[in-house]
Amino acid sequence: MKNNHKIPVTKVATENETKEQNINKELLAILVCPLCAGNLIYDKPKQELICLFDSLAYPIKNAKPYMLENHARTLTLAEKDALKSAKKPN
Ligand SMILES: [Zn+2]
Repeated sequence: MKNNHKIPVTKVATENETKEQNINKELLAILVCPLCAGNLIYDKPKQELICLFDSLAYPIKNAKPYMLENHARTLTLAEKDALKSAKKPN
């Protein structure tokens, strides 16, 4: 009896699989705003997760997102505008 049969690992091919600096895409995909349950925008340079709906930016520290309202900072209008235009498709 052979017990060393290996189960083939089916790797899902993701297009342009790039290594994110700290936080991975899978984690991002499941993260939503705790207030409105909306999708978040990952601001990589600032290491923040942004909810445009609430105008809040949740900080990421040591690769851990702090999804708490009292940790979040309020976005400025300029930041919101920049994010909105960046989010536009094409
Ligand atoms: Zn929100």
